[in-house]
Amino acid sequence: MIKRQRILITGQVQGVGFRPAVYRIATALQLSGIVYNNTNGVTIELQGQGQKITEFLVRLQSDTDKPPLARIKTCEAFDIPLVENEDKFLIRTSDSQGTPLSQVTADIATCRDCLSEMADEKDFRYGYPFINCTNCGPRYSIIKNIPYDRPNTTMSVFGMCDKCAAQYTDVTDRRFHAQPVACPACGPKIRLTDNKGKTIQTQTEKVLAETACLLLAGKIVAIKGIGGFHLAADALNNKAVERLRERKKRDHKPFAMMAESIEKIKQFAIVDGLSEQLLKSPQSPIVLLPKRKNSPIAPSVAQGVGTYGFMLCYAPLHYLLFEHDIDVLVMTSGNISDEPLICKNETSLERLGNVADALLMHDRQIFRQVDDSIVHCIEKEPVLLRRARGYVPTPIIIEQSCTEDIFAAGADLKNTFCFVKRNQLICSEHIGDLEDAEVYHHYIGSVEHLAKLFEIEPKIVACDLHPGYFSTQYANSMTSRKVIHIQHHWAHVASVLAEHNINGPVIGLVCDGTGYGSDGAIWGCECLIVSLEKFERFGHLDYYQLAGADKASKEAVRPALSLFKKAYGDKFSLREFDWLLNRIEPDKNKLQIISEQLEKGINCIETSSLGRVFDAVAAMLGLGNYNHFDAQLPMALEAIAAVDVEDSYKFDISFSPGQPCLFDPGMTIQGIVKDIKDNIEHGIISAKFHNTLAAALSAMAKHARQSSKLNNVALSGGVFCNRHLIDRLVKLLKEEGFDVLFNRQVPSNDGGISLGQAAIAANLVTKGLSITDSQ
Ligand SMILES: [Zn+2]
Ligand SMILES: [Zn+2]
Repeated sequence: MIKRQRILITGQVQGVGFRPAVYRIATALQLSGIVYNNTNGVTIELQGQGQKITEFLVRLQSDTDKPPLARIKTCEAFDIPLVENEDKFLIRTSDSQGTPLSQVTADIATCRDCLSEMADEKDFRYGYPFINCTNCGPRYSIIKNIPYDRPNTTMSVFGMCDKCAAQYTDVTDRRFHAQPVACPACGPKIRLTDNKGKTIQTQTEKVLAETACLLLAGKIVAIKGIGGFHLAADALNNKAVERLRERKKRDHKPFAMMAESIEKIKQFAIVDGLSEQLLKSPQSPIVLLPKRKNSPIAPSVAQGVGTYGFMLCYAPLHYLLFEHDIDVLVMTSGNISDEPLICKNETSLERLGNVADALLMHDRQIFRQVDDSIVHCIEKEPVLLRRARGYVPTPIIIEQSCTEDIFAAGADLKNTFCFVKRNQLICSEHIGDLEDAEVYHHYIGSVEHLAKLFEIEPKIVACDLHPGYFSTQYANSMTSRKVIHIQHHWAHVASVLAEHNINGPVIGLVCDGTGYGSDGAIWGCECLIVSLEKFERFGHLDYYQLAGADKASKEAVRPALSLFKKAYGDKFSLREFDWLLNRIEPDKNKLQIISEQLEKGINCIETSSLGRVFDAVAAMLGLGNYNHFDAQLPMALEAIAAVDVEDSYKFDISFSPGQPCLFDPGMTIQGIVKDIKDNIEHGIISAKFHNTLAAALSAMAKHARQSSKLNNVALSGGVFCNRHLIDRLVKLLKEEGFDVLFNRQVPSNDGGISLGQAAIAANLVTKGLSITDSQ
């Protein structure tokens, strides 16, 4: 029987080649009708034999016919009246009744079809470093404006040749409407220059061969990729890597590496099934993998950590380069220190000329700089540590549509910002630390650009409670909008709620470096009762003093001295602890000054920071006494933690009526000091310390459950980037019967703050609640 059905599909179905796929299946089944993007997804109308329509629906969701990047969330079909004299199936550009939700999709690693064409001598794109199709290639990084059409991308300067144009306009072709489509005759080209900008080579094959030669000879080459420049060096050549460190002014932070196959990566690191999937995924992130013992990777690639960060080649250019006998490359962001990633040819010479010996450039402009994303695995699930290329701007979808557009400014460290548009939370890519003037400048430009790209006019602005944050000051300057200030750790837990699409309340356990508290103290280790409407502070790590504000997050001696004083009270003296303090701060004079500062409370602030406790313990074990980069000491402490240690230290949780319960770390510190004296292996001490924190947090959660009757626990905060701690804590909580939620799609560090702020603000707007600052 002939019938007509309307099919409504939601999910990731726009900008991923979905309509052409619908067209192909419908015409193959001799169905007539129409397909178009609507405000929530895709609408299809199909007319023909009922049985064929059923077959259509099966094929649309099958792996063979569904576009690789499409994700169908819901699919509803219902009968509608027949349309007479319809004999074709058509793709309509868009629904006239409203603009589609999001036309901008993420940059995607080169697909298998393109790779085989690139390797095929008979293909007209043989060996072409910019091959791409609807299923792969740059998107977000090349779009200047909407709608997402070629004239609005940085490909507009390249006129398509006849062959490319034929594919671009053929609905049955894999390159139908693939905006960056190009070939050697009509598209972008590569060239190799010296570090003064003088061209060395322009012929593609020779450019690649010479670049490989330079790298294998220990030179540093800046390579322009998808989201910006990388600085590349031979990862097996320690001298080259050390030279790169020196020139990039990056002394300690581990470098990411790239290889062309999983088999190659397995020679250097341990790759489990999930990690392999992630490495090979279209997003192609950097995956943190346990180091293999005696791996030949140059020691200075990643010192003081237990993992390597690896990614597979993800642009055609990478694959072509690796064909020239390259094993493994350091591929670190092309910038100096913590400045924004460099993506323009002009600035690359000026800024990277002193770092690189040569530059491998191309003439496809990168409009938005996007760093590589970083992922690790927790509880057999992928967890993002830095969300950027491949993941941005894919939105996080919430249940209820918000009536107002919202801008959430994020935090100052590891900044991201977030927009709310209807039921979408659209997070920006990792922007960086706003205290760097150039990063801050980039932040403001990015907010303005992305607001335009996503057609957002925020009436409500959410930001951190910290009055000194640049992001807060920026939000406050938007005077025509209503500004809401949200406590840092509330936002952390709210980011977990948003990801899991729940409103709470839940028990929130936050393990964090620092965040501005409602009482003016610096909070960090918190047990909160949290919903998207409000939060209550149930308990926290007992306050200790931090002397010397800014320096306190770098120098371990500051929290260490304060924690000793807390643990031993009057029994503590510099002389008595000389044997241990020597290791933490050899400068006796400095010890004296900080000690007096703490006693008199000069330039001191109260804190419950957990990150600083990690710093202190790492320094006590001689792992260093200074954070050259964020979390260096905590990472070093995690790296040495012995596995299979069940012991822990004593700790104390105390209650007083009407007050938050307090986790006192004094006994834990005493236990660690005793173990050091007794020459206990440091790996065991580290493991016992981790176990103690997990036990104390779990105990606080149990107390919170008793009084709140809640059984959901949400974990967030920067310290949960520590795998050892989160693994242990999740295990304990599950044993206690808790349902445990943690961040996966956004980082648990401050990169996730903007999502939490956005979710809180969106909930207030949707519920029509009064919008006031958090308590
Ligand atoms: Zn492709
Ligand atoms: Zn062409």
